Amino acid sequence: MKIQVIKGMRDILPPETAAWEAVENKARQIFKTYGFEEIRTPIVEEAGLFERSVGATSAIVEKEMYAFKDRKGLPLALRPEGTAPVVRAYVEAGFYAKDPVAKLYYFGPMFRYESPQKGRSRQFFQIGAELIGSDSPMADAEVLILLDHLFSELGLKDRRLEINSLGCVTCRPAYLTAIKKFLKGRINKFCPDCKRRSGKNPLRILDCKKEGCRGLSREAPLVHDFLCEACAQHYREVRGLLLAGHISFKENPRIVRGLDYYCRTAFEVISEGLGAQDAVAAGGRYDGLVKDLGGPDMAGVGFAIGVERLMLLLDRGPWTVDRGPGTTVFFALLGNEAQQKSLAAIQELRTKGNYVECGYGGSLKSQLRRADKLAAKFVVIIGENEIKKDMAIIKEMASGKQEEVLLGRLVEKLA
Ligand SMILES: [Zn+2]
Ligand SMILES: [Zn+2]
Repeated sequence: MKIQVIKGMRDILPPETAAWEAVENKARQIFKTYGFEEIRTPIVEEAGLFERSVGATSAIVEKEMYAFKDRKGLPLALRPEGTAPVVRAYVEAGFYAKDPVAKLYYFGPMFRYESPQKGRSRQFFQIGAELIGSDSPMADAEVLILLDHLFSELGLKDRRLEINSLGCVTCRPAYLTAIKKFLKGRINKFCPDCKRRSGKNPLRILDCKKEGCRGLSREAPLVHDFLCEACAQHYREVRGLLLAGHISFKENPRIVRGLDYYCRTAFEVISEGLGAQDAVAAGGRYDGLVKDLGGPDMAGVGFAIGVERLMLLLDRGPWTVDRGPGTTVFFALLGNEAQQKSLAAIQELRTKGNYVECGYGGSLKSQLRRADKLAAKFVVIIGENEIKKDMAIIKEMASGKQEEVLLGRLVEKLA
């Protein structure tokens, strides 16, 4: 019976994994310079966490979440995004009691039951960062500067940062009234999803991906025109700091993000290399979320990068594997005795940081072919003749030069 990977999920295979590792290493290195520390939360959470944070009427929770009951009937979900679990963990561990500001980053798989397409799979990886404990525009700016820094270091070209302000609990009611007024008499022209959501969450109409709805909502009032003085000031300061940090951006008043917890700053990083509506990174401010999840009234802002999409955009092929600074040595071994006699030397060379490979049987010719493929600098040949003399042949692959050495002096000779 042949079992295949399930629809919408994919294996990430070597040598592509080497490129993933390089991206992750770069991200870790940059996170550290901004004072972010790694957090690892479980992949499975109570389903209620996402209903309360992302929103029960959001497309993610309504249609895309992998929700199931465990053996005791507890409703669980595979995490569809990373912010809510991080905030849950932040509250649970009482981080706020130790330090008013927490800077956390994560790597890991997320799950959404969507139609699979290029750059969009049902299991997808995110690299995310959350700065919790400050409502200062400086926090928004720092998170965006960090994101820009990382993308620059990775060589991501043709990217564009788009930002918006979604207002707060003070100014949003007036906006909601305006958008409800706009929808009156027009709602029947929208798609069934928009219609259903229009009562509880009319903002989603701006977010609908259907062509018809996009056309209709072009005339809708924009939250930008309804910001209270505090939100307008916050937005002005964020833009000012981005300018001061030489981060180029475009204001896009149509960004709403499909998650309930966002307020004030919302942003997306768009790349021409992806389909029309796909962002390579997105995020924003979520000032009410910590309190909603049982913590104190703490603000927060963060982003998530879609790693599959990032990899599509980075021109990194052909993938190359970094073996480190040591020497690559291949042991062509003929027979069990040769294997036994060389094992100590192989271990010693590896301990010293060299990349050492060995043949697992077969002819000398086939083993040498493999050594060639692995770009070995030296090949050590031990056959029956060599065993008898307690010797080994060292062959330098580039020059073809060979020399016979005593087995006991092998490591010293190669080093
Ligand atoms: Zn406001
Ligand atoms: Zn719609």
